[in-house]
Amino acid sequence: MIHITLSDRRESPSDDPLGRTHYGYSPNMPPSEIYRDNHGYYVLGTRADRENYALFSAPDHSGERKVVLAVEIERIDRKTVPGRGVIEGDILSEGHPVFDAYVGKPITGNRNPINYIDSVVGRRTCACGCGTEISLGQFVPGHDQRALHERVSQIGTVLDFLDWFDKVHSGVGETVTNTDSSLRHGRPQAIRRETYNLDKYEWPNGLELFLYDDGRIKVGHKDSSIAVTEVSNYTAGKTGTSRASAHVIARFTPTESGSAS
Ligand SMILES: [Zn+2]
Repeated sequence: MIHITLSDRRESPSDDPLGRTHYGYSPNMPPSEIYRDNHGYYVLGTRADRENYALFSAPDHSGERKVVLAVEIERIDRKTVPGRGVIEGDILSEGHPVFDAYVGKPITGNRNPINYIDSVVGRRTCACGCGTEISLGQFVPGHDQRALHERVSQIGTVLDFLDWFDKVHSGVGETVTNTDSSLRHGRPQAIRRETYNLDKYEWPNGLELFLYDDGRIKVGHKDSSIAVTEVSNYTAGKTGTSRASAHVIARFTPTESGSAS
């Protein structure tokens, strides 16, 4: 955890990069104000990026230093104030293990306003799903690599993975590989066509479904002709239990030149 020792409440310089009028702590400040005035900016080393929580402390009226705010860190903003870090995160409240363990309790200060505490409270489980508890970062060292490579191997080789990723990421197409043997017509390829403002789904047998961003839907089938057999609108039921709905039914018939496969 990061531990930040706050000064008494003071006026900020008029050119404060965070637009604050004050910084520091005075008794009876609500947590939102303590956060607003003190979540940045600080000289924060790289360790800060792996910490999950920040505690802010200040002396109370008896002079004893106590934790006045606990924050779950979402990210360290290092852009707003060049060379400095601004802590962005959620203010914790009663019931959160970190809040309950620290807020309102005495804590030892330090000449350096930024300290790090090794705490058994507020540990997370490794994001790979192995269940190991960690106090720093999101993964047990090495587990991020393992989790990544497990996913690569589900696609194939590293080259297969790169091809697949580039296709998906560029919106050219994604083959849904998790085939369900109970589907008689196979799974569609889903493709985003940004230039036409539509998502396209294409089934192995040539059936195509286009979902336009403006709400239009186009259904097509390669090597086929079409007959629309039903177009219906249903209004909502008077009792409010049935919702309004509409549907179109069409049948595609293979053309002479079409292949039957
Ligand atoms: Zn793990």
